[in-house]
Amino acid sequence: MTAHSNLNIVPFVSVDHMMRLVLKVGIETFLTELAAVIEDDFRRWEQFDKTPRIASHSKEGVIELMPTSDGTLYGFKYVNGHPKNTKEGRQTVTAFGVLSDVGNGYPMLLSEMTILTALRTAAMSAVAAKHLARANAKTMAIIGNGAQSEFQALAFKAIVGVSELRLFDIDPSATERCARNLAGNGFAIKSCSSSQEAVEGADIITTVTADKQYATILSDNMVGPGVHINAVGGDCPGKTELHKDILLRSDIFVEYPPQTRIEGEIQQLDADYPVKELWEVIAGKREGRQSERTITLFDSVGFAIEDFSALRYVRSKLQETGLYVDLDLLADPDEPRDLYGMLLRCEAKLGEA
Ligand code: NAD
Repeated sequence: MTAHSNLNIVPFVSVDHMMRLVLKVGIETFLTELAAVIEDDFRRWEQFDKTPRIASHSKEGVIELMPTSDGTLYGFKYVNGHPKNTKEGRQTVTAFGVLSDVGNGYPMLLSEMTILTALRTAAMSAVAAKHLARANAKTMAIIGNGAQSEFQALAFKAIVGVSELRLFDIDPSATERCARNLAGNGFAIKSCSSSQEAVEGADIITTVTADKQYATILSDNMVGPGVHINAVGGDCPGKTELHKDILLRSDIFVEYPPQTRIEGEIQQLDADYPVKELWEVIAGKREGRQSERTITLFDSVGFAIEDFSALRYVRSKLQETGLYVDLDLLADPDEPRDLYGMLLRCEAKLGEA
């Protein structure tokens, strides 16, 4: 042991810790506090090092790395997207992430991010809707009632004030499960038998389906004036949810254009088609909704800064909750350059035992 003995310890937040953290804080409070951290980071957007995520595509899915830094902290997320996985008892999306100190490069946090991704995606969607949907929006259609769906519903309740849900999934058991999981949360819930039925009277339409293809979850005739669309499921090259004609009628807001042009709904449009950056609206540099009749579209793909915000938020909760374990992740020899000597001392110790 040396004066440096705690330098090798990195707090690790497991799936179990994350669940306890969410339950301890309360999921709506968690989503609201996380949304505030995302908004803080979007307001200082220009300070961040930004790059489209690094994606490794295969026939079955994608594995991605999502890095960013604000000059003081560095974060990245490892995340996959495999729509076929649920048939094999696996999640479509799983993730973990790291937050590090830019000054010395040492990790400060390693965390599960499967649950955290669902929370941050929902918080981000709700932040976008807070700025873009009509002020009195109360009814939301959710098309795609899988893993992300309940988180989306609760974020829109906590942050936007949504109180009525209209659910549809091609798999009725998914809708049934979603409705059951959300019972008792104060929503009026209608389970629908088609996406056409789900969008009737909806102020906000969330599409959050998983299919590795150009799908048409919403066609042009399903979207009336004044609707806000929260398009979450189209987040990869060759994977979209909206008919192109809807995009041509909408005011389109995106996270980071160089990434969204590759991955979002707007991959269907010309590379220079005008879109607006959401951070500018959050920072008060640009107006959000133009009129009561404008169709606003948040073309969500998920950007690294949202994960950075989520890791920053989780880290801020560690001391007060103690919901982590110390992970022996980094080698820390007594003399920094004597890495091999540390191995020899370990060998000697094992020989004594
Ligand atoms: P999931 O597999 O758990 O659920 C997807 C649901 O969509 C399933 O219940 C499926 O039956 C349903 N579905 C598929 N095709 C449909 C259709 N044509 N109409 C209605 N329902 C249909 O997946 P998930 O974890 O909930 O993720 C949903 C999508 O969101 C995925 O595509 C994922 O990549 C994406 N996602 C985006 C972000 C982001 O930041 N934008 C973050 C996380 C996940």
